[in-house]
Amino acid sequence: MTRIPERIKRLEETIAAACARAKREPADIRLVVVTKSAEIEQILEVVRLGYNHLGENRVQQLKKVSAQVAEFVEQHRDDPALPKEIHWHMIGHLQRNKVRQVLPVVSLIHSVDTLRLAEEINGSAAKLNLQPRVLLQVNTSHEPQKYGVPVGAATHLAEQIETLPYLKLIGLMTMAPLTRNKDVIRACFARARELYYEMRGEKIVGDQFTELSMGMSSDYEIAIEEGATILRIGSAIFA
Ligand SMILES: *Cc1c(COP(=O)(O)O)cnc(C)c1O
Repeated sequence: MTRIPERIKRLEETIAAACARAKREPADIRLVVVTKSAEIEQILEVVRLGYNHLGENRVQQLKKVSAQVAEFVEQHRDDPALPKEIHWHMIGHLQRNKVRQVLPVVSLIHSVDTLRLAEEINGSAAKLNLQPRVLLQVNTSHEPQKYGVPVGAATHLAEQIETLPYLKLIGLMTMAPLTRNKDVIRACFARARELYYEMRGEKIVGDQFTELSMGMSSDYEIAIEEGATILRIGSAIFA
């Protein structure tokens, strides 16, 4: 007997409570179920519950699991309870030589943090005739080993990405540091939100710039309070 339905129910309740505190609507927040630590049976169980935004942080795993899930959905086409379409999110660091493999599979890439990577995506997308949606990953924690463009360089990079015709920049992504200090976590998320509004206000980005991907199992309530529109949650569901 699995505890996944119970865990998801509790997660949805906690999300709703955080939304109420922040005077926000749960419908305005997208839950991306991060499957990197889950077995395929567990992933299919989540899909059977109707969740169809799934995230992986490694390319090989993304390709493998997305093919397995697609096969399952195809086999159960007549089941009205199952989602018809699965949207995959690439949430981890992306190497340029993997871009071409990822593009046909993903609905959103959360981890664009250099111009060279954005240019690679643009070039591959042109050849594949795709228009991938991407987020700019920002390093709001100032941890040197972390991926993400530094906050001070983010606006300029966004301007450059906006000139690339084949990719659509639709928002920002950030990760808070691993700490129990909620003030530190909140400061990271608040910085991302401020940057997001700055970019919109200064018209560096277009009307499609609507997403703030932040919040994981340990910090999603704070992320909701600070304006997250996409949560990336794994261990709260599967661990
Ligand atoms: C693993 C991962 C998550 C989910 O983390 P949990 O703590 O399991 O919820 C979110 N975002 C990224 C980039 C990840 O690698």
